[in-house]
Amino acid sequence: MTIKAYGAHAGDQPLEAMDITRRAPGAQDVQIDIAFCGVCHSDIHQVRAEWAGTLFPCVPGHEIVGYVSAVGDAVSGFKPGDLVGVGCIVDSCRHCADCAEGLENYCDGMVPTYNGPSADAPGHTLGGYAEQIVVDERYVLRIRHPEAQLAAVAPLLCAGITTWSPLRHWQVGPGHKVGIVGIGGLGHMGIKLANALGAQVVAFTTSESKREAAKALGAHEVVVSRNPDEMAAHAGSLDFILNTVAAPHDLDAFITLLKRDGTMALVGAPATPHPSPGVFNLILKRRSLAGSLIGGIPETQEMLDFCAEHGIVADIEMIRADEINTAYERMMQGDVKYRFVIDNASLTSAGTL
Ligand code: NAP
Ligand code: ZN
Ligand code: ZN
Repeated sequence: MTIKAYGAHAGDQPLEAMDITRRAPGAQDVQIDIAFCGVCHSDIHQVRAEWAGTLFPCVPGHEIVGYVSAVGDAVSGFKPGDLVGVGCIVDSCRHCADCAEGLENYCDGMVPTYNGPSADAPGHTLGGYAEQIVVDERYVLRIRHPEAQLAAVAPLLCAGITTWSPLRHWQVGPGHKVGIVGIGGLGHMGIKLANALGAQVVAFTTSESKREAAKALGAHEVVVSRNPDEMAAHAGSLDFILNTVAAPHDLDAFITLLKRDGTMALVGAPATPHPSPGVFNLILKRRSLAGSLIGGIPETQEMLDFCAEHGIVADIEMIRADEINTAYERMMQGDVKYRFVIDNASLTSAGTL
């Protein structure tokens, strides 16, 4: 089936309206009419070919929510009309140790929602800046939030799970002092989730203008990281830091803030590397520097259910598909509170956008 989408034909080209095709649902497939799609900074890295290996045409988008419009004969978990989500993963090998543990995100055969290998035209996966997507039910998530919150649920499918997974893995909870670095799409979810898990949350931002806003998100303290005195006040005091910054920066400034045995997990994935941190800063306090990649399907469902139970959604600014290039420019300036979400109806209603 031919549908409308928004994507780019080359890394140095703006995104534009395009027609793409989706397969008819196979026996295990769920066909989803996409209502909304969040805009992740990874979309920018990938579609602008800042990361290696972008396949064109590139249709980004892996924070997908919508309604089931058809299911294959063998689908048991979903029916037309169901409210569902699709995150960063649409397939994996299904038999390795990672898949068996529900950590499909670490499977060597993981197929990302866009820019992954596919038997469907054009030979690679195309993401959620589109009217529709067809996904094997194993990788489809159930949404239990009220329907009215659907647009604000979309960012949970990447920003939510990418912060939830490390917070859970490093067992953040009551009695922990946790730093969240970079208050963008991921960071603002990190604040909300760490707060809901019972931690003492310190937000680190380069933007003075986010000082009060970060408190409203659930940060108990906010530090403007450009201010050395404010940073020094937290030296050696944090159990865990989640670093979401999308650009290279001095990691030592944050490692110094960890307690003995503390860990900083990097989730931000800048196109060029961070300057290497000092070894002594790690060994003298047995500190760890770690990384974390999105999350598996079962933990994504766990996160969605936790958020539904606790009334947690993203803070969003809705845009039309044809506003995406401006939205990218604003994200590059840190000018978004805190996630752009595309109203996918704009793909259809604008006709020839
Ligand atoms: P975003 O909404 O653009 O937020 C990034 C934040 O980083 C900014 O709001 C800003 O916060 C801070 N920042 C400080 N200096 C910056 C600079 N020079 N350039 C850009 N940002 C700067 O991005 P996001 O969607 O949260 O994604 C953040 C990073 O995580 C990206 O690199 C993305 O590719 C990556 N990511 C990784 C995973 C994973 O699985 N590991 C998953 C999703 C995304 P302040 O204004 O508060 O300083
Ligand atoms: Zn993402
Ligand atoms: Zn696998």
